[in-house]
Amino acid sequence: MSHPLPKPSEPYKTWATFLKAVWMHGMSVQNMDKTIAASHVSDAAKSILEVFTRRNEAKTVRPSSFLACARQTYYSVQGEDAGNMPDNIGSTFAVGHLLHELSYAAVKSGIPSGFAVETEKNVALPEWWPDDKAKFNQRGHVDMFITVPDRAAHEAYLSPDAPDRMLIDFKTMGSFSYRKHGKTVWGEDPDAFGYLAQLAVYADTLGLVSDDPNKEGVGAIVAGINRDSLTQPLFPRYIDSKTLNDELARVKLAVQMAVDGNDPGEEFLTRHGSDAYFHCGRAGKPGYCAFKAVCKSNPTRDGD
Ligand code: SF4
Repeated sequence: MSHPLPKPSEPYKTWATFLKAVWMHGMSVQNMDKTIAASHVSDAAKSILEVFTRRNEAKTVRPSSFLACARQTYYSVQGEDAGNMPDNIGSTFAVGHLLHELSYAAVKSGIPSGFAVETEKNVALPEWWPDDKAKFNQRGHVDMFITVPDRAAHEAYLSPDAPDRMLIDFKTMGSFSYRKHGKTVWGEDPDAFGYLAQLAVYADTLGLVSDDPNKEGVGAIVAGINRDSLTQPLFPRYIDSKTLNDELARVKLAVQMAVDGNDPGEEFLTRHGSDAYFHCGRAGKPGYCAFKAVCKSNPTRDGD
């Protein structure tokens, strides 16, 4: 039996506050719908088994891989080996899958009628995405896409300014990253894991960004789940259409340079200076970039 979020006395001002309230409500043992939960727990079990039984490293450019820095895109397209993840990474991915599926179940359980929630939705990649299968993954999917076919439901729960659809990408993160996620200045701070790049590609394919100054785009949400402290609320951050559109322009250029065989140099370091050291493995930092060794041995800039 479903127990949706009660109607508020005032509509939620933003999708971020509405989504947080729906998620919190649906996560409660009082409100989680058993049938919905059973279906998502079963999907989580399949994904968890898979992370321990087959390797899952990205070998091609995808919206979620190798777009954070233009040189990553370039190296991937050049066929540079990105190496393997540690053999014992499975538990981290397993927890991620579980928290994603529980979040899907919570939102579907808590969402009021009049809203439609799609999860793990398959989407076509944008027309500008290269069709070279050997170098660019051709399949895309988004975590969650919510639409509001019922105008009365929108009126009751969301401010009239809020759009009638929203793309949501869930990210599980440790406490440190969760706090950082709350303060991230999207489009300015280093986005080492390419969250913004991924969202920009999917927002483009779903028609949520606008490059027309007279036409407001919809934007999208990155929602942080704190895997270290599971009673913490969901942390949705809304990213506006302009920021997504700027990121889209950067990603398109990175893809074009990679396809043309133009090395963009240490692009992430150039963009973020010493703030990129942690990710790029400079100044004694370990570095998480899969191409940090080849990048370091082919310097195009001074310093670091
Ligand atoms: S080490 Fe930094 S600059 Fe070099 S490819 Fe990786 S992210 Fe880009």
